[in-house]
Amino acid sequence: MKLILLGPPAAGKGTQAERIAEKYALAHISTGDMLRAEIASETELGLQAKAFIDDGSLVPDEMICAMVKSRIAQDDCKNGFLLDGFPRTTAQAEALAEMIDTDIVIDIDCEPEILVARVAKRMVCPECKHTQIVNEGENPVCAKCGAELYRRPDDNPDAMRHRLAVYYESTFPLIQYYKQRGLLAAINGGQGFDEVTRDIFAVIDGVMTLKNS
Ligand code: AMP
Repeated sequence: MKLILLGPPAAGKGTQAERIAEKYALAHISTGDMLRAEIASETELGLQAKAFIDDGSLVPDEMICAMVKSRIAQDDCKNGFLLDGFPRTTAQAEALAEMIDTDIVIDIDCEPEILVARVAKRMVCPECKHTQIVNEGENPVCAKCGAELYRRPDDNPDAMRHRLAVYYESTFPLIQYYKQRGLLAAINGGQGFDEVTRDIFAVIDGVMTLKNS
């Protein structure tokens, strides 16, 4: 099973990806997490990517495509994987089509007002990468592993505005791209996280039934 999760920033891709990867035993490939790990380790790639990420711009296609190509060649991807945050441009989608045959593209659709409100409250675990909504007065501690949560530097109002504009210009056209190829399943991301998970699992179960028949 090779699956792509599409959707605007803060649509809940990371949260849903964690749940999907666990239930279907897929490798979870988040290009954002990979880039943040490169930055933390101060690698050449991380140093080059940092300025793009901090202001909410996209990292150049060649860098991302090379990173994904070597990641999906790893052993843990042999039984299937889930791409979270890739592709984000038509050029990336075309490069990916040269690498693999995708089974399904799940688009988590969500209104911008919900996204902006959500990003103001979300925090991330530096240890297990779990993303969590933290309301005022709540303790910023990871519900999964207990580590202290942090706010992503690009989860500020200016970078978020820019990320949304970049999404609508560069990534939104992929919905049509995959629809034309008969691969798209649209999910209402304005529901609660559990309802979104339920709808996604129903789509994946349907694809698996077809694949196994
Ligand atoms: P994310 O964690 O998916 O929100 O990604 C955080 C940031 O990493 C994005 O705002 C981009 O700067 C960069 N990034 C992640 N994935 C990609 C991609 N597929 N193409 C270009 N830049 C990316």
